[in-house]
Amino acid sequence: MKIHNFYAGPSILSEYAIQNTADAIINFANTGLSVLEVSHRSKEFQAVIDEATELVKELLEIPEGFSVLWLGGGASLQFCMLPFNLLRNKASYIDTGTWASNAIKEARLFGDVDVVASSKDAGYTFIPKDFVIPSDSDYFHYTTNNTIYGTEIRHDPEAPCPLVADMSSDIFTRKIDFSKYNAIYAGAQKNLAPAGVTLVIVRDEALGHVDRPIPTMLDYRTHIKKGSMFNTPPVLPIFTALQTLRYYKQLGGVPELERRDLEKAALLYKAIDESNMFTGTVSDPADRSIMNVCFVMTPQYKELEPSFIDFCKARGIVGIKGHRSVGGFRASLYNALPIESVRVLVEAMHDFEATH
Ligand SMILES: *Cc1c(COP(=O)(O)O)cnc(C)c1O
Repeated sequence: MKIHNFYAGPSILSEYAIQNTADAIINFANTGLSVLEVSHRSKEFQAVIDEATELVKELLEIPEGFSVLWLGGGASLQFCMLPFNLLRNKASYIDTGTWASNAIKEARLFGDVDVVASSKDAGYTFIPKDFVIPSDSDYFHYTTNNTIYGTEIRHDPEAPCPLVADMSSDIFTRKIDFSKYNAIYAGAQKNLAPAGVTLVIVRDEALGHVDRPIPTMLDYRTHIKKGSMFNTPPVLPIFTALQTLRYYKQLGGVPELERRDLEKAALLYKAIDESNMFTGTVSDPADRSIMNVCFVMTPQYKELEPSFIDFCKARGIVGIKGHRSVGGFRASLYNALPIESVRVLVEAMHDFEATH
């Protein structure tokens, strides 16, 4: 039976990336060795990280003056590493979910943090729209896609200071105006690679302005200077990231990925909106994420939620259980998910509703 993978993270990767990784685990670049056992300083691995870096620049159209880094520690390490390097006096953050609030907590260790708005009291069911970003902020941090709550900011906000963004769960789904940014980071395990590597894109000129000493490993300049090879980088996730990036390029790059993602999300939201049994959890449809679609059963059907999960499992649909803080269902429609899987889920929703 074909399995339809809606996990939120780690999550679906393309068959292309998985097959090429499987092959390289046996024989990497005709070395006769596994990619698991070669030196990160070998010329074969150097070629991998170089090509991956170039493809990130090409696919995201990153201008001169930015460095692309491959770091360990997950997106969560960036919650502190970023203010360590970029927060001089004061930064502004918007609180749109668990990840945003984790980032705020860490930033407070480094200076004044102005939380310009929060939708916490409403269970993070919408993106606050009316807020003022103080112009003396070193940067404005936002989470582009709130993986847990299914809300998304799909544009580069206007701000009187540089932007900084956690794009862990929707990078490579839209064009980014880098002129507005000082940094972007993304844990790889949603739209790029297995867990273990974090992509960081940082403006070179934004570095070197804080007074505090920065531990060597947490200083972006260390990793820029050493081409992400100051210490052993996460070799295998970087190898798989390269495969994903090649696959993205073959498909037609970010514009084509975005077209597909919009189509997949529209299909599922339409099914939710037309249903009497299912309902979306995001209060303003304009805030709906195209990556993580969150929905629940309406009150009169609520107790059927566990049986719908079993019903789906019997059809090969996995990973749709909602995050424990939201409940219900979450279908993650990352770039590697084929529209066919969304069709299968929509059909399961129709069939389940028809028989109950
Ligand atoms: C998953 C996720 C994180 C956490 O990533 P880790 O790599 O586990 O630290 C942070 N931000 C967002 C938006 C996420 O989706």
